[in-house]
Amino acid sequence: MNRYLGQISVKTVYESEGRIPMQLALPGVTSADLARMKNWFWSDELSLDEQAAIFRIEVRSYVMQVDGLNVLIDTCCGNDKIRSVPWADRLQSDWLINLARAGFAPEDIHLVLCTHLHADHVGWNTRLANGAWVPTFPNARYVFSRKDYEFFKQQTHEAHNREAYLDSVLPVVDAGLADIVESDHCVHRHIEDGIWLEDAAGHSPGSIVVNAQRGGARAVFMGDILHHPIQLVRPDIAFFADESPAEACATRTRLLGQCADNGAILLPAHFPDPPAGRVLRDGSCFAYQRL
Ligand SMILES: [Zn+2]
Repeated sequence: MNRYLGQISVKTVYESEGRIPMQLALPGVTSADLARMKNWFWSDELSLDEQAAIFRIEVRSYVMQVDGLNVLIDTCCGNDKIRSVPWADRLQSDWLINLARAGFAPEDIHLVLCTHLHADHVGWNTRLANGAWVPTFPNARYVFSRKDYEFFKQQTHEAHNREAYLDSVLPVVDAGLADIVESDHCVHRHIEDGIWLEDAAGHSPGSIVVNAQRGGARAVFMGDILHHPIQLVRPDIAFFADESPAEACATRTRLLGQCADNGAILLPAHFPDPPAGRVLRDGSCFAYQRL
């Protein structure tokens, strides 16, 4: 995907994809919910039988270019990482090749923004070089939210996220390339005319969304506030990996309402390709207009 929003260009960098039973990902989704989504989104793997429906996610990064800055948003699972979950263990993906296809070498990246510090959003922060984890993007500043940094530093989390902190966050901090910031934080220029982070706590304590606007429509990089379009129909059901279920549902509903009102273009981390779209109100819930 290569999309222009005023003076901003956005490209996707694909890593991998996975499939989870719908009832595991979002327990309680009904046939009526699936039928409602079918009006504006459908794929072969979906079914109106709620027990048979599959929740497919893709894992991707975005690169945004604005004012001569190359900004990488989320860095997927990474290669060679030893993980306690099979879907991320010792992965050998073409992510670096896909980054090159999008037109970027690691040295070209100026800013790395992680929407949160789960294992599938920090992996390419580092790469293996002579047996050590070194920053993949030597010329970048990496921006992490303080709340997530403090949370994952405690090492009380499930194993794969503890592992990701140790090999994909800590080496960046040790190399002096990290900026640990508050959840509401302006990264470039001004709010509503630049790039700024917005508190989106719930999926993790320090989850943020990345807003960007320069002479065109607003873009919102949603991270894991949404994983699948069915969550526009049922923003009130917690995703199984939401750290704080009630807070995650409240944040999701609030941000979807905000996007419906301001016409922002959504760029979610895990939606099926093509991911970008606009949020519409649909009675008491939401619908999606893919772009
Ligand atoms: Zn994720």
